[in-house]
Amino acid sequence: MQKNTVSQVAIITGAGQGLGLAIAENFLLEGKRVVFVDVNEQLLNEVKTSELVSQYASSKTMFIAMDVSNVNAIKESVQTIVEHWGRIDILINNAGVRKETSVEDITEEEWNLILSVNLGGTFFYSQAVLDTMKRQKSGRIINISSFGGQAGPLSSGAHYCASKAGQLVLTKSFARSLAGQGITVNAVAPAAIQTPEMDTIEPVKLEKMRESIPVQRFGEAEEVASMVSYLASDAAGYITGSTFDINGGLFMR
Ligand code: ADP
Repeated sequence: MQKNTVSQVAIITGAGQGLGLAIAENFLLEGKRVVFVDVNEQLLNEVKTSELVSQYASSKTMFIAMDVSNVNAIKESVQTIVEHWGRIDILINNAGVRKETSVEDITEEEWNLILSVNLGGTFFYSQAVLDTMKRQKSGRIINISSFGGQAGPLSSGAHYCASKAGQLVLTKSFARSLAGQGITVNAVAPAAIQTPEMDTIEPVKLEKMRESIPVQRFGEAEEVASMVSYLASDAAGYITGSTFDINGGLFMR
């Protein structure tokens, strides 16, 4: 197994909070250089000045405020990163939008938003890093999908579930076309992870959700981040085109 000796460069989309931020923090602790991508500039500024992240000098962090549904912005960001650090080792496609709209009420605008951010962002960011990863003959792409992409009819919305299912197919398409070039592509499918968003759910509904999970608790962002760290590591070189369920037993196949 070939070991990486340089400080790896990881791009994380949607790194302003929640899962993306937890993944970013782990990567920094592991000595990686991290590019924080998020559409929410205010969140990025808060992260930049946070206790954990601020201790890493600018030699270890980069912050790019951009919308992953903008293909030109993706291309420009990749160019900036390559000019700055000369390499891209890891891409985490995590930026996402979720809306709990019924099938009757989903508008064309909302459909386009969810599909272009969650699925389009994943496709075009992955496509944009390929040249660099192929040149290096190494790379890791990890897509943060969801239980919603496996189980379908959740309250999360048909558009959200379709985008997350689409990510799982993209994972296999990219994995197949890159196999043999040192680049692996995998997905994780979390469910019921404790993120800031959960604070907005009614306590009664939350308790019902908790009871429906076989392990009887919600997951921690860290429990997703540690799987992502493993998939990004040299040790996971023989794993590609796979999806890892992180859901407390909610979906057993
Ligand atoms: P999770 O529970 O998966 O962590 P969050 O909603 O907490 O979900 O985080 C998703 C992140 O993705 C947020 O920080 C959000 O600002 C970011 N995001 C949403 N849309 C876009 C976009 N179009 N481009 C880049 N980042 C985005």
